[in-house]
Amino acid sequence: MIRTIRGTQDFLDLSFFMFATQTIQHHLQYYHFEQVATPILEPIELFKRTLGAETDVVSKEMFTIATRDGGEQICLRPEGTAPIMRAYLEHSVIEKPWKVFSIGPMFRYERPQKGRYRQFHQVSIEIIDAKTILQDAYLIAMLDRLFQEKFLLENYALLINFIGCLSDRKQFKERLDGYLDTVLNALCDTCKRRKDTNILRVFDCKNPACKKLYESAPHITDELCNECAEEWQKLKQTLELLSISYTHKPTLVRGLDYYNKTVFEFVSPDLGAQDAFCGGGRYDLLASQLGAKQEVPACGAAIGIERLLMLLEPLRDTLPIPQPPALQVIIPLGPEQQPLALLVADQLQNQNNVCVDVLLEGSVKSMMRKANKMGAQHAIIIGEDEQKQGVVLVKNMMTGDERVVRQKELVEILKVS
Ligand code: AMP
Repeated sequence: MIRTIRGTQDFLDLSFFMFATQTIQHHLQYYHFEQVATPILEPIELFKRTLGAETDVVSKEMFTIATRDGGEQICLRPEGTAPIMRAYLEHSVIEKPWKVFSIGPMFRYERPQKGRYRQFHQVSIEIIDAKTILQDAYLIAMLDRLFQEKFLLENYALLINFIGCLSDRKQFKERLDGYLDTVLNALCDTCKRRKDTNILRVFDCKNPACKKLYESAPHITDELCNECAEEWQKLKQTLELLSISYTHKPTLVRGLDYYNKTVFEFVSPDLGAQDAFCGGGRYDLLASQLGAKQEVPACGAAIGIERLLMLLEPLRDTLPIPQPPALQVIIPLGPEQQPLALLVADQLQNQNNVCVDVLLEGSVKSMMRKANKMGAQHAIIIGEDEQKQGVVLVKNMMTGDERVVRQKELVEILKVS
């Protein structure tokens, strides 16, 4: 039997997924974000230049595609920010700031585990051409309101850090390198390698011994230039003004090269090892990495839908998940009544917005059982006599009451009961 590819999954019931994404869409509309869509296929170069060739996503997790003519190198997108910035530059968008979001699948060749897939879904939310750090605070507050007010999440934390501008990071990397030299023998092999290739990523190490050592490592927030230090203060003050609780995590750097200044993550202990369900930050350098002549300051975030759904699962009963419309099931008793059943159904569905299904297979008994199993509000039975007399038999599936109704009056009966 052919099965799903490792790290991917089927959604046989999308209602919960749709509830989550529609709630986010709705929330974002109220913050004046517009929905956009970019292709799933993108040039590999887009991510190499922006995420950084040394990042895990680019160096080992890309799904690349061999093109027939061996020309352009393409891949399945691993994230949504670089494509949205590409679109912004490619179409010379003039709106300022450009507040957009997109929803769709992302692809990373990671080792699958709980909450970590090779195909997963993100909502990418971006504020492009937004210089002031107040936009970062506003974005974070918008997300916090979404998780708390709309999804009723309680057991989560907002972690933030400020990784400064390029020169702050250059200076900090040197200090960190000096610190790591003093503890080099105690570091794991991955951290030793990262020290030379992508030093800030040492902080992402899960090894308890390394983690312990990083508790005493220098903090980048102590190395900020005056301008960045002021922005860091302003960010914290604005979050406090908006009553957003946060924790400063000095080792939060996030994996991708394009981040600067603000970085943040929403995490929950209920998720296990992969505890982040939303992450983001500021990416002032991304546009230049893509060849833009002018800098385009921006900030954004990505919500991981699968992890959000894991958090929402225990809250299913308390969430305002929209109920499908009441179902009416039409049961023609013989083949001669089947075309009439379709005609009645068609009128109810298209002229009157009634949710209807027609059963066309099986014995009368099995069709009645099926209607019951489907959760039908009424079974609408059409036999030979009913057909001749232009009526139907309407059975209330809850009470068992039956009544004969003229076909023309059926819609009124269904609407009132
Ligand atoms: P990132 O683009 O790595 O900053 O990730 C943003 C969010 O996407 C994370 O906080 C996760 O919720 C989600 N995410 C990232 N990678 C995966 C994955 N492999 N499987 C499921 N969700 C993921």
